[in-house]
Amino acid sequence: MNLTILGCHSATPRVDTNPTAQILEIRNHNFLIDCGEGTQVQLRKNRIKFSRIKHIFISHLHGDHYFGLIGLLSTFQLLGRQQELHIYGPKGLREIIELQLKLSNSYSMFDLVFHELTSVNSEIILDDEQVTVRTIPLNHRIYTNGFLFSEKPGERILLPDEAKKAKVDVAYYRKLKQGFDVINKDGILVKNDKVTLASKSPKSYAYCSDTFFDESIVPIIKNSTVLYHESTFLDKHERLAEPTGHSTAKHAAYIAKMADVRLLILGHFSTRYDDLNLFREEAESIFMPIELAADGKKFTFE
Ligand SMILES: [Zn+2]
Repeated sequence: MNLTILGCHSATPRVDTNPTAQILEIRNHNFLIDCGEGTQVQLRKNRIKFSRIKHIFISHLHGDHYFGLIGLLSTFQLLGRQQELHIYGPKGLREIIELQLKLSNSYSMFDLVFHELTSVNSEIILDDEQVTVRTIPLNHRIYTNGFLFSEKPGERILLPDEAKKAKVDVAYYRKLKQGFDVINKDGILVKNDKVTLASKSPKSYAYCSDTFFDESIVPIIKNSTVLYHESTFLDKHERLAEPTGHSTAKHAAYIAKMADVRLLILGHFSTRYDDLNLFREEAESIFMPIELAADGKKFTFE
C-alpha cells in the first residue's frame, strides 16, 4: 500500500502549496482521493499515469477539494480516454460537472459513472475481490465524507520448492493458494500449511478531511493501519476549529489514540503557519508515531 500526497494545504493554492489531493495505491488500484485545483499538474510531477485512475473519491464540495476535477476530466477527454471512470462524491457533484460539460459542448467519450452520496451513516460504496471502501461521515460545515479503504485478506503464499518436494501437481497450486489441502501424485494428502505461508495481514487507510473533532468516527476507523486526519490549526487557534468545522493537531492525535491506529499522518494545514513542525510537536504530546504530509511526499506501508 503506497500513498502519494499531491496536495495537503487548506484554502487557496499558492506558489509552494497545493490544495488537497492524494493517490492511494492499494492492491493494484490507484485511487484518487479529492482533487483540488492543480491536481493534474501534481499527477504529472509525480509521474502518475492518468490511465491508471479509474476511481475518484470526493469528500465534499468545498473548492479546495474538487476544483481540479473538471480540468482533469477535460484532459482525460483530450487524451482520448475510453475506459470508464467512477466518481464518488456528494449529491450535486454530478449536476455541477454535467452542466460544465454541457455548456462547453464537450461530452465525454468515456463513461462517467457517478456514485452520489447522501447517507449520514457509514456505507460501503465499493466492494470487489481485493478491497472494500466505506464512507466515514464527517462533521464539517457542509455534507462531507471521509473514506476507509480496506484490503481483503490475500491468498496464501505458495512455496514452490516445498510443493515440488511434496509431489503436488502444478494444477493444484491455485487450490493451495486458496488454502485447501490437496492430494499429491502418489495419492497422499498434503496439508496446506506444509507448502504455503499465511498471507500478509490486510492493511487499511482512513482518510478524514475536513472535519471538526468528532469521536463518533472512532468505531469506523478503529485499528486502521494508517489514519490521515486533517489538522488545519495549531492549539493557539483552537477557538477557530468549531466555527470552521476543522481540527487542531491535538484533536487529530486524540482521534488516532482512541482509534488505536498504527500511524497518524497530519495534513490540510492552514497556510498561515510557516513552521509545520509545530503540528508534530503538539500532536506527539498525545500520540505517536506521527508523520507530516507534504506535497509530493510518498509513503509506503508494509
Ligand atoms: Zn472544507
